[in-house]
Amino acid sequence: MPAPSLPGGRADGVTLSQQEVARYSRHLIMPEVGMEGQKRLKAASVLLIGAGGLGSPLGLYLAAAGVGRLGLVDFDVVDFSNLQRQVLHGTPDVGRPKLQSARDRLLAINPEVKVETYETRLTSANALQLFESYDIIIDGTDNFPTRYLVNDACVLLRKPNVYGSIFRFDGQASVFWPPHGPCYRCLYPEPPPPGEVPSCAEGGVLGVLPGLVGCIQATEAIKLLIGTGEPLVGRLLHYDALAMKFREFRVRRNPKCPLCGDHPTITKLIDYEQFCGVRGQEAPAPAAASGLPEITVEELKARLDRGEKLFILDVRNPEEHQICRIAGSTLLPLAELPQRFHELDAERETVVHCKSGMRSAKAVAFLRQQGFRNLKNLKGGILAWADRVDRSMPKY
Ligand SMILES: [Zn+2]
Repeated sequence: MPAPSLPGGRADGVTLSQQEVARYSRHLIMPEVGMEGQKRLKAASVLLIGAGGLGSPLGLYLAAAGVGRLGLVDFDVVDFSNLQRQVLHGTPDVGRPKLQSARDRLLAINPEVKVETYETRLTSANALQLFESYDIIIDGTDNFPTRYLVNDACVLLRKPNVYGSIFRFDGQASVFWPPHGPCYRCLYPEPPPPGEVPSCAEGGVLGVLPGLVGCIQATEAIKLLIGTGEPLVGRLLHYDALAMKFREFRVRRNPKCPLCGDHPTITKLIDYEQFCGVRGQEAPAPAAASGLPEITVEELKARLDRGEKLFILDVRNPEEHQICRIAGSTLLPLAELPQRFHELDAERETVVHCKSGMRSAKAVAFLRQQGFRNLKNLKGGILAWADRVDRSMPKY
């Protein structure tokens, strides 16, 4: 498909200083970019949703490439567990807001770029206003409510949405831009049931993976801005790092799409946490929501100290059990529970735990269906234990 181009004429009146000519010389000597393309980049604005795994390569390369105005939306603080892949941030940044750390790094790479930061959670109330003044929106989020929100806001504003997602060894990228091609809803009309698709925090991610997917997104953004090449519009690129294979799938605009179809029923932003069946990251643990019995880490510690013979069942994966475990606990991963629950004593008082309390709540609910009655879910999981009982325990 021919490259749809962004509103033209934006480079009129833009000039490059002597220093900028030197900085961008490897672009300027390519006919596909040239002075005109570089001026277009300087005149352009790109909004990055998320300054994490995907946002890192995106920010670094778009700043280096000379995109004139870069917006960043994030509300997180740099954590040690980010550093394995979020190369925008360094060890001395741990504890700082990601936006501060990102801004420092991007301006160090290219002080010619204007970096605008929005320390907020993207919501239906602020998305349209935030997106309004940017040419391209890049989705670097890691959750479904925000992904649908970014998609819908982009479609309503007719702005290109450069999409990427990552999990373990697999990545995806596309450009959603109705009416030139489909939107995210054409590809995935319904969100997955809550909890069915694990996040990177739950399932892990190869550190280099967001580097590659983010670079694909950055490439697509630059192509759209300078109006060259074949964009990923109408194509979903899938990357399998383990097999080192790229595959491409055609995605067509769905005429029945409720958002970008011929007779749209979604004409304004909705409640995306409700749509996706979650209430965001502060969702109450399912145990509390469904009245499953719980025990706090302090109560568990006190009972163990009194010598009570509680059975502690760890339903995490073996890799997690290797990182840290509560002394005396028995490992039986959640996925194996349906085949192996007969190994457990249904009468014995059992405390079930995982990392943060979500999987163990599922395990408790499942075991109750199998007739177990003497079960308690450890509230907050082993992370709460590491925070409040054994501070020498490594966290992950
Ligand atoms: Zn659509």
